[in-house]
Amino acid sequence: MTASVDRSSSVLIKEYAAEVGFDLCGIARARSLDEHRAILTKWTYAGMNGDMAYLGHNIEKRTDPRILVPGAKSIIVTGLNYYSEKKQGGNGVPVISRYAYGVNYHDIIRGKLNKISDFIKSIYPEAFVRSYVDSAPLLEKAWGREAGLGWPGKHSLLINREIGSFFFLGVIVVNIDLEYDQATEEDSCGICKLCVDSCPTGAINNNRTIDTHKCIAFLTLESKSLIPDDLVSKLEGRAFGCDKCQEVCPWNKSAKHHKTPDFELPAEVGLMTADDWKNLSRKDYKRLFKTSAIGRRTYCRFMDNIVAAYASVSASVSES
Ligand code: SF4
Ligand code: SF4
Repeated sequence: MTASVDRSSSVLIKEYAAEVGFDLCGIARARSLDEHRAILTKWTYAGMNGDMAYLGHNIEKRTDPRILVPGAKSIIVTGLNYYSEKKQGGNGVPVISRYAYGVNYHDIIRGKLNKISDFIKSIYPEAFVRSYVDSAPLLEKAWGREAGLGWPGKHSLLINREIGSFFFLGVIVVNIDLEYDQATEEDSCGICKLCVDSCPTGAINNNRTIDTHKCIAFLTLESKSLIPDDLVSKLEGRAFGCDKCQEVCPWNKSAKHHKTPDFELPAEVGLMTADDWKNLSRKDYKRLFKTSAIGRRTYCRFMDNIVAAYASVSASVSES
């Protein structure tokens, strides 16, 4: 894997990113994202980060990758589609978000980013290369926009014209100059506000940020507290994550099934009945989900989610 002399390294890096399985790859010049500092500060001051206090720390570093990686010149951003045409759920079983169907995406993306890092080192042996997947104070979505991958939808997630919003981001920071993509300037949400109107808990703020106190994804994945009673009734059967704001988005209408076999839902999980979920033992939880993002939740917290998911369905039946 060596660079040919007549093609730019940036093109080779993008081609290699596609070769290792990424759907998107763009490159931005490292700079201070000054325009995001005030929004982030205001968001954390309002307590919108909930239990995730770390999101309010290191705001200078979070908005300037040159503080995180001294000498940083370029930010390579990758996107990996995780959309599944086959949807888990139905028949009264608790609903799991698509992103958690298969192997923990952090592990999958880290492996692919490491391959790209090695490739860059094969072109630039002296380069300083750092790769991240949710593992550093970096504004991944803002960098995705800078690198031309898409625009932030009103639901706060990045939307790409070709593949929609069901994709994971990975970031590589390097101390070499590369060719830079045009930042995405478009905002193709227009007057649409389907995600805002469809959110079961009203968690979408009017400045493309999310109130994590209300967001089902946060409440079922990250929160260390029990889900508040007034929000349990709004879970609509969800036990781990929430795809609602993405499912209603017109830009996801043509989303294609991902091409990462590790993201498939294991057959055994797909066949679980309502009783199987209710009676899931600690042993089976560990066996079934030890390589999944679900396994990041403790067994007790996950079973709290299952109880809440069933309570939400019972509440909607008694209301109707
Ligand atoms: S993930 Fe669900 S709860 Fe969170 S903002 Fe989207 S629709 Fe609302
Ligand atoms: S549902 Fe509409 S407003 Fe929301 S992100 Fe999609 S296009 Fe934008």
